[in-house]
Amino acid sequence: MAIKILASEVASKIAAGEVIERPASVIKELIENCLDAAATQIAVEAQGGGVELIKVSDNGTGIASSELELAFHRYATSKIGDLEDLERISSLGFRGEALPSIAAVADVEVLTKTPSHPTADYICLRNGEVVRRETRARAQGTTVTVNRLFRHFPARLKFLKSTSTENGHIANLVSQYALAFPEVRFSLTLDGRGSIGSPGDGDLRQAVSAIYGPELAQVMLKIEHRDGLAKVSGLIGPPASARSSRNWLSFFVNRRWVRSALLIRATTEAYRGLLPDGKHPVVVINVWLPPQELDVNIHPAKAEVKFCHEQAVFGEVRKAIEQALARTPIPASPKAVPFWPGYGQWQSPRMIMDNEPVFAVAQLPTMELPVLRILGQMAGTYIIAEGPDGLYLIDQHAAHERILYDRILGQLSRREVEVQGLLEPITMELSPREEETLRSIMESLVEFGFSIEPFGNRSYLIRAIPALMAAADIVDTVTILLDTLSGKGGRDSWEEKIAQSLACHGSIRAGQQLSSEEMSELVKQLEQTGQPRACPHGRSTMIHLSSHRLEKEFGRIG
Ligand code: ADP
Ligand code: MG
Repeated sequence: MAIKILASEVASKIAAGEVIERPASVIKELIENCLDAAATQIAVEAQGGGVELIKVSDNGTGIASSELELAFHRYATSKIGDLEDLERISSLGFRGEALPSIAAVADVEVLTKTPSHPTADYICLRNGEVVRRETRARAQGTTVTVNRLFRHFPARLKFLKSTSTENGHIANLVSQYALAFPEVRFSLTLDGRGSIGSPGDGDLRQAVSAIYGPELAQVMLKIEHRDGLAKVSGLIGPPASARSSRNWLSFFVNRRWVRSALLIRATTEAYRGLLPDGKHPVVVINVWLPPQELDVNIHPAKAEVKFCHEQAVFGEVRKAIEQALARTPIPASPKAVPFWPGYGQWQSPRMIMDNEPVFAVAQLPTMELPVLRILGQMAGTYIIAEGPDGLYLIDQHAAHERILYDRILGQLSRREVEVQGLLEPITMELSPREEETLRSIMESLVEFGFSIEPFGNRSYLIRAIPALMAAADIVDTVTILLDTLSGKGGRDSWEEKIAQSLACHGSIRAGQQLSSEEMSELVKQLEQTGQPRACPHGRSTMIHLSSHRLEKEFGRIG
């Protein structure tokens, strides 16, 4: 179809809004154009987080020489013509807004060749106006280069995060498209460094392997469900591969990468009871619906869709996942050990506390701790201790977290970090986004005592870790760290967050039996911390029931 300017009654029906927020949004629009042009190879390059340069090349249909300027007019599109088309969109783009919006905020060059034309055409735009046109050579396809994004828009530039954060967004974006289009070969280069290379052989598992690594790809379960309104397909991670963030949930509706609270809920429902709190599965789910079952025209960046029959879609996605999970033997769930087996019904300790709020000591964080005498451990979780003024219940995990956190930051500020070298280096496979996060916090990690080196293909070798870190689940701790820090801001907050994360994962868990010596030691160390009454996240480490309070509860005083 030729490029035409949409009639105003069609243009006015299009969800308007800012399309270009950040470098990744430019890349999203350019990739969608390549895919709409039936490209089978798409190469993305970015420099300086995409602010200096973005270059997207494809081997698609190309843009006809006579239509090249037209493509940069608002509402100029070859993808829809009339209102009816708007109701059953099968292309990713349809608004004719992307190229003009990009050309309004950056210098743009296009080099393109169609199969029917012997030569390629090149145009260069400044402030949306063509300033140069040449005949050049190129194989069939299109290359769009975007230089100095937002140069004349300081307010927008200011809104952008660090280069590494923008690189993280870009890496994630290209990852999502590589997962959505396994038959297309994607590559991503960031500042000259290869980040992603998907094989483009049409096999979703291979695409997952290129993005998340072969280890995860191997264990993912196939889903396939096709009775009813929607067809659902994809790969889902077994519960044991769950992650600590929602970054690993990918949904594509008619091949469009979407954010969808509905699909997240359907997935969460299907995994209910199989994952511990705070864990989220890895899923790559394609939902296929007849175009009229879907409104894709509700969000300016087309990142959200509206289903005409939400409940049906919800049910079918949940069923598809449940079926796959049911077919696979699932190892015992890693849920928290039940407290007090057999005493589950016994509620009385809570009753005391329900009437009025117990004095949570964390509210007075600077108060020092009196000398405490350990009475015992409750539910493998709380240490019961007696002080000069009543009873103390200490959360052993929160208390240990506080101790480790103080110790880690103390070592860091004294520049005396203790390191434990690993006899065997541990290999860790990272997703493109995790790799960008790792690169941005690498320097801080070194200060904390990590020694991590690249091992090719987004694999990294861990050779040393902070001595305070539990050696048991290093990969887990590091990936949780990367997941929680992804997209987060500056260096100062990193140090605190890294310390928090290490303290949290290095500390004893709820449900772990402690000897009385261990408990005394823990309490003694807690007493020496800066803020013994709150864990690094600000939760209380202990509850204090004063003697006065106890006397009142027991009716000894009025
Ligand atoms: P839309 O994608 O909504 O149609 P765009 O502004 O993104 O609007 O693109 C305008 C037109 O330019 C498209 O309709 C298409 O005809 C053409 N075009 C843009 N990029 C490419 C490409 N990589 N290959 C072929 N044609 C393209
Ligand atoms: Mg487009």
